[in-house]
Amino acid sequence: MTTLQELRPWERPFWKPTPGKGGIFFYLIVIHALALTGLILYPLPTFSVLIPTLLLTALGGFGTSVCYHRMLSHRTLKLNKVVEHVLIFCAMFNGSGAPASWVAYHRQHHARADTPEDISSPKQGGFWWAHLRWLYQSAPADRQKWCRDLRQGGYKVWTYAEVPVILLSIFCGLLFGWRAFFWMGSIRLVYSLHMQCFVNSITHLGHAKEGDSSKNVWWLGPLQLTAWGENWHRNHHSNAGSARLGLRWWQTDIGWYFICALEAVGLASNVKRPKPRTVHLAGVEKNLKAANVPQPGLEAAKL
Ligand SMILES: [Zn+2]
Ligand SMILES: [Zn+2]
Repeated sequence: MTTLQELRPWERPFWKPTPGKGGIFFYLIVIHALALTGLILYPLPTFSVLIPTLLLTALGGFGTSVCYHRMLSHRTLKLNKVVEHVLIFCAMFNGSGAPASWVAYHRQHHARADTPEDISSPKQGGFWWAHLRWLYQSAPADRQKWCRDLRQGGYKVWTYAEVPVILLSIFCGLLFGWRAFFWMGSIRLVYSLHMQCFVNSITHLGHAKEGDSSKNVWWLGPLQLTAWGENWHRNHHSNAGSARLGLRWWQTDIGWYFICALEAVGLASNVKRPKPRTVHLAGVEKNLKAANVPQPGLEAAKL
């Protein structure tokens, strides 16, 4: 029995945050209440409000997908230090929290995928646990164990900046009026939150007998303005050492295009590309399964 199996936090009532996470629960309630109020008062943004809202959302998506996920969690590329810290700010401004906590949860997720120690797995607590509840009802991931590399230097400073940055994010639009306050603040934050939470919930509703429960969900891509390419989650779990998530030419991966652009102008380096065989396998795997052809060594070959 692991500690988590004994605690079974997913069996707690959903309105009870775990000790120490009351602040996160409060933040989630506040942004949802504000977003709902905003949608009632100002159901549509004006053009001059929509453009900065989309821009902030998109930048936050690059911060979380390219910097937090592909670079800091998996070390699949190196970024120019200025670009890296600008993207960290963008990710925090979009509600992703400080780098150390995001990366610790994420590395734990990969190392323990589908087991009771995988804190955001829908297998333990169902859809809503995987989508939102784990954020405020699970014990924090052990940063000393999972991300010792992010507990020093410039990264440490961001941990102290979490609250000021999120307050700035909620209230920044107020400079441009109430409509901008709601759209550039809480509505953007709620949208970004749920689009990124879909990666833990919807893209983990596959069947574990096919490796792990991760799956590619093509239709999520166009909706996830803030999780660029993360809908190709099966590709990612199968080849976590690659900075590219969309492996086929038609698998749109804006985060990857952004990395290529940064690399072209010298702001990204050591970019890890998928192994050629993995790209091929992503295409043939489905056909082999459809034809019920045995696939000896297919899973091993992908890693
Ligand atoms: Zn990952
Ligand atoms: Zn996953």
